[in-house]
Formats: sequence, structure tokens, C-alpha cells
Amino acid sequence: MPTMRVAQIARPGGAFELVERGIPQPAAGWVRVKVQACGICHSDSLVKEGHWPGLQFPRVPGHEVVGIVDAVGAGVTQWRTGQRVGVGWRGGHCGMCDACRNGDFFGCTVALQITGISFDGGYAEYLVAPAIALALVPDDLSPVEAAPLMCAGITTYNALRNSGARAGDLVGVLGLGGLGHLGVQYAVKMGFRTVGIARGQDKAPLAAKLGAHHYIDSQAQDPAAELQKLGGAKVIIATVTNGDAMGAVQGGLGLNGTLMVIGAAQSLTVSPLLLLSGRRAIKGWYSGTAADSQDTLRFSVLTGVRSMNETYPLDQVGEAYDRMASGKARFRVVLTMGH
Ligand SMILES: [Zn+2]
Ligand SMILES: [Zn+2]
Repeated sequence: MPTMRVAQIARPGGAFELVERGIPQPAAGWVRVKVQACGICHSDSLVKEGHWPGLQFPRVPGHEVVGIVDAVGAGVTQWRTGQRVGVGWRGGHCGMCDACRNGDFFGCTVALQITGISFDGGYAEYLVAPAIALALVPDDLSPVEAAPLMCAGITTYNALRNSGARAGDLVGVLGLGGLGHLGVQYAVKMGFRTVGIARGQDKAPLAAKLGAHHYIDSQAQDPAAELQKLGGAKVIIATVTNGDAMGAVQGGLGLNGTLMVIGAAQSLTVSPLLLLSGRRAIKGWYSGTAADSQDTLRFSVLTGVRSMNETYPLDQVGEAYDRMASGKARFRVVLTMGH
């Protein structure tokens, strides 16, 4: 039986183990992908640390997967071998529960599938995934370029395009890390008057390089007051994982403004008076569907938005993960499979 290498986590808090496994056959409705690259996302810590309820071990993480369709299961008509595809967070759904019947597939209560959590993900030479989870990857993007767009990219792009902001509106991007450096680029290319917000004056050149029209150093200045001087933000997307940093910008929302939360902070203190007096809102956003991923990839090609990446081969998965977890990576960490 032909084998492949995967990087698995065998128990909560355990280290990565590189092991040989048989290459899996795709079941009916599933597709096998020969993985070329897989981004390492902060959410992979849910697997590493065992924080996802009911997670079964051993598990291979990874939901920023790009590779080549290698085999298709029975009944799969929309994909063929040789196509280049991406697999993101959203793996599949039942189609029959009340959430699915309402079109809210991400809220499926019966068979919600998440790549690298419900089934083994992309820290591997091959994976099998439901056909519905696949997005077509344009030829213009290399595997390493496309991989981070399957989670960091789609999350920022989709949050922005569903935020209610219109061309010319003032949009803040809180945080200039893995998510934020993409968020600024997308916001600029979508035609928003874009404000990068981060800690330290040393990030100002980065914000400018990414195309931001303004930069606010939240250590030296009150970010809420600075946003109000610019007219008040229609939208702020909060990419950080620090609730206090999110709380500090809420006062920068203009009338009818929305704070879009995409960073998984532990808690957030909000001012009810601020919300009701200006009809302001706080809203969360998760990534999106495979079709949203495809839109993200196409928009990135169209407008030149690219993730900045550090790459590691699969056999250095431990170092690569630690680099992501250190928060010092500039800006996404991507595993390459060497085939
Ligand atoms: Zn992710
Ligand atoms: Zn369902």
C-alpha cells in the first residue's frame, strides 16, 4: 500500500509527530488532494491543545490547504484529477437541519464538518475532503501564495465585503499581523478610506506599504479619538485577539458604524450607551464557503493582494508551528510538502 507522511497530534497538548500512513481513498462525495502547501493558522491551536469540544485524536490539523485533485470518489462530478484546489475551514454540512434549510450552512447542527478538526487536514502529503469544500485555485497564484488566502484571506475579505461599508467609507483595520496585513490590502482595493491601527510607530511604514491611507499608533494616541478626527469609522475590523485593544477602538465608530470582530479574544467590554446613542453595532464574522474562497482567490489575483509568508518544509512542522505561535512571524507561516 502506498504511504504518505502526515504531521499528527496524538493527544491534547502533545507535540507534532511525523508518521507514515496509508494514502486514503476518497469515499463517495469526497475528493483526494495531493497537498502542495498548507498554511498554519492560529486556530490550529484548537487541535494542538485539544480545545475543540469532542475532538478525536490522533488528528492532523490544517485548513489552509492547496494542492492537486488526485482522485475523486463515487458521485463526484464537479471535480476532476489534475485541477488545482484549495480547502479551507468550512468542510461540509448536512443540508437538512433547520440551519441548513435556512441557508445558514455554517451553523449546521447535525453534520458540520471543519477541515483539520472533523477530518484530517493539510499538514500532510495527501488529504481527503468533501467535494463541496473545494475551491478552484487560479493559475496565477503559487501554492504558497494561495494557501494563507484559504483562511486569513477569506476571513478578512469576506468580513469586509459583508460589513456594509461602501466605496469611500472610512474603514479601520485593527492589528497588522497575519490577518490585518491582508485586511488593509483588501480594504484599500475595495475602495475604502483605510486606516491601519496597531501598536508602535515602527508599524507606520508597513501600513503605508500595504496601501493604508492613514495610520494610528494606538500606544501613543487614543485610537477612538483619532478615528473620530477622521470622521468616524463606518466599519472597524478587529483582527487582534486582545479584547482591551478592541474595546479601545469602539469609540472610533461613526453613526451606524459596525465593529466587525474576527479575532478570537477571550472577552470584550462594550459601552451600551455608545451603541444605542449612535445606532452602532458589534458583529462577528467567520470565514465563509468554498465559493467565498474562490471569490477571495480571484479578487486577490485581480488586485494584486498577496500574503507575506515564511515557509517551512513539512518535516520542520514543530518549528513552523512555534514560529506562528510566537506571534513574531512576518506574517503567515506556510508548510510545503516538496511534491
Ligand atoms: Zn484559520
Ligand atoms: Zn445541517
